[in-house]
Amino acid sequence: MLIEKYDMEVFTPPCDPGAERYAARARLLVDMTEVLPYLNATLRGAVYVPEANALTWKKGGHNVAFHAYEIATSNVEDRESAEKELEGLVDLVNRTWERRVEITPDHKIHQRPTPMAIYKLLPLTNCKQCGESTCYTFAIKLTASQKKLADCPALAEPQYALKLSSLQEIMINSPSIGKEG
Ligand code: SF4
Repeated sequence: MLIEKYDMEVFTPPCDPGAERYAARARLLVDMTEVLPYLNATLRGAVYVPEANALTWKKGGHNVAFHAYEIATSNVEDRESAEKELEGLVDLVNRTWERRVEITPDHKIHQRPTPMAIYKLLPLTNCKQCGESTCYTFAIKLTASQKKLADCPALAEPQYALKLSSLQEIMINSPSIGKEG
């Protein structure tokens, strides 16, 4: 097991007082830099910055960051959930490290698609069937992993087949919707 012990801190980010959202941070006693390329290979939508020994990832609505000696998560609804989330992330790192012989490490930087890139491929009718008032709002939520392509029923219409396949291609290559999350 790579990470056996760590110090956990749960707190309310000072930049967001009164928001009642929590962040949690695990300070590690071991350097997990070598795991980052394996996480980059398995966590869809992860953004890896090798020069900074950092990898960020959206898991559900949470912002996750892995650094050499630290794992952090934020935007969690309560203290207990923040602790559980962090424990799950430590497990994820340990499982990935144990499986590393089966994984081809990925040292490339993958960019998350921008809302505008997604927006241009939507039907652009603002029909509201997805529950959002505009296609652009839907695009923002899709890139933040708060919506799925299937939430836009209009995309199933034959005239949007090309747009749908382009969106599916983007989701396969750099979506925020995780293989692990
Ligand atoms: S259902 Fe699709 S086309 Fe309609 S508003 Fe939502 S994203 Fe736009």
